[in-house]
Amino acid sequence: MDLSRKRVVNWCPRCQTSLSDLELEHKEEKSHLWYIKYPLVKPIGTKKHITVATTRPETMLGDTAVAVHPNDKKYKKFIGQKVILPLTNREIPIIADSILDPEFGTGALKVTPAHSMIDAEIAEKHNLPAIQVISDKGRMTKKAGHKFASLTVLDAREKVIKELKKKKLLEKTKDYTHQIPRCYRCDSAIEPLISPQWFLKMDNLANQAIKAVKSNKIKFHPKRWEKVYFDWLKNIKDWCISRQIWWGHQLPIWQCQNKKTEYFASDKTPKECSVCNKCKPEQIEDVLDTWFSSALWPFATLGWPKQTKDLKEFYPTNTLSTARDIINLWVARMIFSSTELIEKTPFQDVIIHATIFAKNGQKMSKSLGTGVDPLDLIEQYGSDATRFGMLYQALINQDILFSEENILMGKKFANKVWNASRFALMQINKEKIKIPDNPNWKKTTKADKKILKQLNITTKKLDSYLETFQFGKATHLLYDFFWHDFCDKYIESAKKQDNAQTKQILAYVLLNSLKLLHPFMPFVTESIYQQLPFKEKEFLMIENWPK
Ligand SMILES: [Zn+2]
Ligand SMILES: [Zn+2]
Repeated sequence: MDLSRKRVVNWCPRCQTSLSDLELEHKEEKSHLWYIKYPLVKPIGTKKHITVATTRPETMLGDTAVAVHPNDKKYKKFIGQKVILPLTNREIPIIADSILDPEFGTGALKVTPAHSMIDAEIAEKHNLPAIQVISDKGRMTKKAGHKFASLTVLDAREKVIKELKKKKLLEKTKDYTHQIPRCYRCDSAIEPLISPQWFLKMDNLANQAIKAVKSNKIKFHPKRWEKVYFDWLKNIKDWCISRQIWWGHQLPIWQCQNKKTEYFASDKTPKECSVCNKCKPEQIEDVLDTWFSSALWPFATLGWPKQTKDLKEFYPTNTLSTARDIINLWVARMIFSSTELIEKTPFQDVIIHATIFAKNGQKMSKSLGTGVDPLDLIEQYGSDATRFGMLYQALINQDILFSEENILMGKKFANKVWNASRFALMQINKEKIKIPDNPNWKKTTKADKKILKQLNITTKKLDSYLETFQFGKATHLLYDFFWHDFCDKYIESAKKQDNAQTKQILAYVLLNSLKLLHPFMPFVTESIYQQLPFKEKEFLMIENWPK
């Protein structure tokens, strides 16, 4: 616990809670870049001021420095000088910091440590004070000066610009489009501000997570998604994990009631205060970021922290299938939570599945009306058709544009499987056929040989596609085998070859086809299996996988 550092967090003035970076939604907005003159206390030659550019002029009331890049020739002579902060008449220093982008605006940055994360970082290095001019309600504080106090941020912005114009300190205004962070819950503009919050120290945890994937203990499929994971972990900052909302896991932190600035952690309700040994400490009301709790999911669901039988039996798990948008929100956090708390990686394979977009390429969204309800598709085409038709498109490209034609194709294929199976069963004439485990066919025809060979090839290929999580390719393989090799060719030949072995081979290929298709079309295949006169198990789903 490091209580000395004050940090800027993302604050939603409406929800009255902090948010992590990943909970922000960045939305493009047309705004302006305002160029403001800060007069030099002692002019240098003809230079009477230094100009800063900002998208948030109202925050200037809380500036405590102007920063320039140490190698920027334009500004070298100003470093160490002071400017008079307009509208406040405070004197603030001009400092040098290499974190600056000399290409942005004028190359001189106003530093507002209480309302910008980067500025807070600069302030810490240079020991600058932080002046909070915006409150947690999103209004200007008294420290912004009596003219501005209690105004909303946007009203204050207007007034600041008006005042600067009056004093001829506004050099120019440029149109500027930029990304505004907004609250993912309520869409309010986020106010970065200093707030006492709890942070999770990330260096060591991020390293553990990086190592787990670098060492191949965990593999991403497709592998390219590793980059998203590594990029995030390599640039990670400490994670603000406390939220001021009423649902969630309460933080296991207690406050001393005698020394209210002191806290201690305990995983059980403490009997006494470990700060003063006298008071009855109170647990703080903050709850954990919901993603912190979600990160415990793989093992907490098995009874952790108790060493349960389930945990011993089923942990670590094998495979996680998830969406690309939550690689960092969830996958990365599950990994380091598990390596830290259980000293095991939570799974071996992470499948990042394809994402289905609306026909025009937009994200499917309820509010935009671009979404498709899978239940409607199932109602219209059947669930096997919906599943098969979706998978059929998931090849190399992972951005799938929704196509109802593919679902229709899935329906036609499901019908084909149904009809062909019924037809094959008629051929077999419900005779008592016993399919041998390791068949040793004698006197096979050319057609027999061909279908048996194709079945072998298909089985092998399907295994390799499943092992490498290429479900789209698997559906293409099965479609071609069943429709073309089995239905178009073999069933036709079998009609002419009326003998006992042909019926056996027909039954053998049908049974194995059903097994191979089962993961992709579970309902129709199970339903056919139930009608087989030669079935050996109660259900297809517990049959042995073909070899
Ligand atoms: Zn909000
Ligand atoms: Zn105490």
